[in-house]
Amino acid sequence: MNTDQQAGIPANRILITGASRGIGAYIAEGLANSSRTLILVARKASHLDPVASACETAGADVCILGCDLSKRESIAQMVKVVLSDGAPDMIVNCAGVSGQEVAPWESDPDQWWQTQLVNLRAPYLIQRGLVPTMLERGGGRILDLSSGAAVTDFETSSDYWTSKTALFRLGSSMHVAGFERGLRVLEMAPGVVQTDMTRHMKMHEGRTQWTDPEDVVAIASAFADGKLDGLSGAFVRAGVDSLGSLIEKSIAGIGGDERRL
Ligand code: NAP
Repeated sequence: MNTDQQAGIPANRILITGASRGIGAYIAEGLANSSRTLILVARKASHLDPVASACETAGADVCILGCDLSKRESIAQMVKVVLSDGAPDMIVNCAGVSGQEVAPWESDPDQWWQTQLVNLRAPYLIQRGLVPTMLERGGGRILDLSSGAAVTDFETSSDYWTSKTALFRLGSSMHVAGFERGLRVLEMAPGVVQTDMTRHMKMHEGRTQWTDPEDVVAIASAFADGKLDGLSGAFVRAGVDSLGSLIEKSIAGIGGDERRL
């Protein structure tokens, strides 16, 4: 991030994982405009076609990449392709899988670990691959799709809850290690958005109140535009925190001390 970007210049080249559907698709379409290049990632590039078309219609240049984020080699290949055009200005770690809705001791160990691979190891590997080049260019932004699960106790889905707490800790490490060099990191809990993930979860059966995806997109968009850099390291909640209050805290430079693990 150069000096201008620290003053709030929008991120133009943005990598978004999990962009084929759900929250990642909402964010991709919300960030699409004519000054942006969006690099959209899902397991298969073909999954991304409808979202890519919508983003192009909004004026963005779009690159779609198939990558199984549970596989280290697949991520290494994806990072190589991304870096061939230079580092992105921003990474949105959105791809994720839900957990096993059973007590921790009843969960399948391989499935438990698979959740860590997608929800935690993938963001780590992507950042490990891209952040050094981002720092060489002066920094950049990382937006993690966190969850209330990162900061609460719950009796089931220990794989998911563990992965989101650890993702928050990884984000905190990125923040403290990279802040002086221009890295800005935000943990965003999206509330409860109606998506394929939540539709299939027992804990959301019968739910009638959902978070408006627009609230999620508003925070992602403000962060991409450089309006929330003062909150780097913090955890924010779509549908609960008003955008105005977050921007005020960011400007006052006090937000980053709040809501840390
Ligand atoms: P979703 O509708 O199930 O979408 C998941 C996305 O992740 C899809 O684009 C999927 O792409 C991608 N993905 C899954 N496994 C992948 C893999 N191995 N490799 C590459 N991509 C993979 O989920 P969502 O509800 O939008 O959730 C998005 C993020 O928000 C997740 O990190 C979730 O934990 C977090 N979150 C959601 C809620 C909510 O209310 N929905 C609440 C808290 C946190 P393909 O299937 O096309 O590969």
